Amino acid sequence: QRRRDLENVKLPAVTTDGVKVQLAANIGGPADMDNALKFGCEGIGLFRTEFLFMGRENIPTEEEQFNAYKQVAEKCGEHICVIRTMDIGGDKPLPYLQVEEEENPFLGYRALRISLQRPDVFIPQLKALLRAAIYGQIAIMLPMVIGIGEIRKAKAFLEQAKEELRKEGKEFADNVPVGIMIETPAAAVTADLLAKECDFFSIGTNDLVQYTLAVDRGNVQVSPLYNQFHPAVLKLIANTIKAAHDHGIWAGMCGEMAGDPLATALLVAMGMDELSMSAPAIPRVKEIVRKLSSEQCKQTLDEVLAMNDADEVRDYLRKKFTVKH
Ligand code: PEP
Ligand code: MG
Repeated sequence: QRRRDLENVKLPAVTTDGVKVQLAANIGGPADMDNALKFGCEGIGLFRTEFLFMGRENIPTEEEQFNAYKQVAEKCGEHICVIRTMDIGGDKPLPYLQVEEEENPFLGYRALRISLQRPDVFIPQLKALLRAAIYGQIAIMLPMVIGIGEIRKAKAFLEQAKEELRKEGKEFADNVPVGIMIETPAAAVTADLLAKECDFFSIGTNDLVQYTLAVDRGNVQVSPLYNQFHPAVLKLIANTIKAAHDHGIWAGMCGEMAGDPLATALLVAMGMDELSMSAPAIPRVKEIVRKLSSEQCKQTLDEVLAMNDADEVRDYLRKKFTVKH
């Protein structure tokens, strides 16, 4: 398997009848970049910038962030580099932000909700992103969106960041695309409304599954219920992709489901433009894409959509796509 992986690094992820899917990598910082390229990623679909904020005593400066974003953008070359604004809170607390302890941190003060209340955190990050965007194809992604008002507020901050950079005489890219994570049921259901303010969507199934099924993603006692193939989740994913395409924007996925070989045929059939995953998952997903025709993918999706139960879907996909060694 290892040798085959290395051989397919340079090949595109394209079905037997020519449908192309972009396979990108998820990273936590510049140090992950070389490994991502080794596995043949075509760009970065999720840079989790909160890792720059963790394991330290203070907010990383604009300059520190600029350097990190620039390095990653440069290594992506012509490919897109989707950088997500800080997603602290939930399972990733941060003592120096002095967020009060909450009874339900996953339903609380996290991610964009913090950024919109804390210009001292958000503005330096946006300034760093705008400046680094000169060096590559950076796109800005907002986490944990539930409504269009949040996107508009974030864009107002982006304009403020540009204004400050102009005053300071610092160079920046004026045309950076802005997209959102689709990781709440609210966003997935109203994707048609949100698409009007977005340049792209990326579906975060890790959170989307937990919020849709009301199953904590980190609680082992309920983990048998945590199933990304639940018909409710599949419908939300399909709805999101359709809304994106109806509005002429691309849709990707950066949750764990993107790297699950059992999901590949379904996601291709739904018209996913990009899949972003942990780098070692890329060769296997690529191998599956290259073996399938879009007709086979569509057949699999039709069969799955006729099923009523999450476990039934998973069992069916396991039988169909698990490789026997
Ligand atoms: C997700 O929710 O699917 C996602 C990619 O974000 P994170 O895992 O960082 O919450
Ligand atoms: Mg998430």
